[in-house]
Amino acid sequence: MRDAQDVVVIGAGVIGAAIAFELSKKGYRTLNIDKLPAAGYGPTSNSCAIVRAHYSSREGVAMAYEGFSYWQDWESYLGVTDDASTARYMNSGTILLKSATGHHEKVLKHYRDLGVAYEEWDNDELCRRMPIYDTHAFWPPKRPSDPHFWDVPERELDGAIYTPESGYVNDPQLATHNLQRAAEAQGGRFLFRAEVAEIRRSRERVVGVTLADGREIDAPVVVNVAGPHSFVINRMAGVEDGMNVKTRALRHEVHHVPAPPDFDFESDGCHTSDGDTGIYFRPDAGNHILIGSEDPDCDPRVWVENPDQYDRHITEAQWEAQVYRLARRIPTLGIPHQRRGVVDLYDVSDDWIPIYDRSDLPGFYMAIGTSGNQFKNAPPVGHLMAELIDRVEHGHDHDRDSVKVKARYTGVELDAGFYSRGREINRDSSFSVNG
Ligand SMILES: Cc1cc2nc3c(=O)[nH]c(=O)nc-3n(C[C@H](O)[C@H](O)[C@H](O)COP(=O)(O)OP(=O)(O)OC[C@H]3O[C@@H](n4cnc5c(N)ncnc54)[C@H](O)[C@@H]3O)c2cc1C
Repeated sequence: MRDAQDVVVIGAGVIGAAIAFELSKKGYRTLNIDKLPAAGYGPTSNSCAIVRAHYSSREGVAMAYEGFSYWQDWESYLGVTDDASTARYMNSGTILLKSATGHHEKVLKHYRDLGVAYEEWDNDELCRRMPIYDTHAFWPPKRPSDPHFWDVPERELDGAIYTPESGYVNDPQLATHNLQRAAEAQGGRFLFRAEVAEIRRSRERVVGVTLADGREIDAPVVVNVAGPHSFVINRMAGVEDGMNVKTRALRHEVHHVPAPPDFDFESDGCHTSDGDTGIYFRPDAGNHILIGSEDPDCDPRVWVENPDQYDRHITEAQWEAQVYRLARRIPTLGIPHQRRGVVDLYDVSDDWIPIYDRSDLPGFYMAIGTSGNQFKNAPPVGHLMAELIDRVEHGHDHDRDSVKVKARYTGVELDAGFYSRGREINRDSSFSVNG
């Protein structure tokens, strides 16, 4: 069987679906191909879907701040009603604890510059707003096996920065399904349970893909949005040598615990970035708390060679590390007997900043290296990638003169050159999920 499209998007995660929606609005016939049974069933489904703006770079803050508006405006952005329901933006606000990482200092100047709404809280205000938090400083982050983990802290935090507009999306898989429906309403198509096994090329450019079952799909444009499989797809296309920044898969655990019963964290809690202990956490349904890791130096990094084969079980050591760190911040947290949570992969670039770019193979593009932090940016990245693809396909030399777009909501210029595959490693990055 042979099929022809204008654009094949490999992957139907939240970014793959957003790119399809934006391209199909421009009149391209898009086909998303995913080996899983539905949109957003890969890492997107296990995303904490936190929407916050504290990135190290101005570009990172600008993109994330633009993302806020899409989520606040979700239904009208989509322009369709999904029978399966519509994902909801939970506007919990974000507390960024001022820690010895100094991350807040990098962030604040970009907030001022870009007009991100924020409040600076001292510890009294932090206690007033979050009476369950202990405002001591526990720095540096430690593992529970460290003999100093339970030491009585002597110092206090320096307060926090609060951004009232941030929050999280209640159902990241549903948000992706919403994008699928929006793309389909514009003529986009989705093919599931279909694995791309080969990227076909002529002498000059990409010409399509071949699936594992032998089906061939012709397309002059192919976009790699394969998440933790991005390096596998880049190798298939033979484009890795032309990239200065590359990607690989990193295993990550997120844990799920009940909030202290005397506090309604689900409605009164905030997403909190706690670099002082090395975790982030946010409210979840049923008065629960989701806990992720901010990748402190003391935690082992588990790189995965084969993204189809890795340990999907929660480990006792990492569960204890993340849950006990939260117990230091929230001393009334009960430690549950049962370990609950999810394990998935980040697609991490060498500097933890994504690659949104063309490749050296004409017609082959990539939106990869999202490093555990780009769910929030899926809609503006869809916009940026669609413009990039459209302009390059119309002859623009993006490698010499990077494509720039005016952000729809904030009006800020988003420069795709920042995400170039050919960039030098960005030393300003946090080299963690904080990007
Ligand atoms: C545990 C965890 C927590 C996270 N928390 C946050 C957060 O709080 N906030 C935030 O902004 N971001 C977060 N992220 C990151 C965010 O979820 C990702 O950046 C985003 O979901 C990536 O979307 P994507 O479209 O690139 O695809 P993915 O969801 O990575 O999906 C890629 C798809 O490609 C498909 N695929 C791969 N190879 C092939 C092939 N050969 N043929 C066909 N299909 C293929 C896969 O089946 C998969 O469905 C988190 C990520 C993880 C893993």
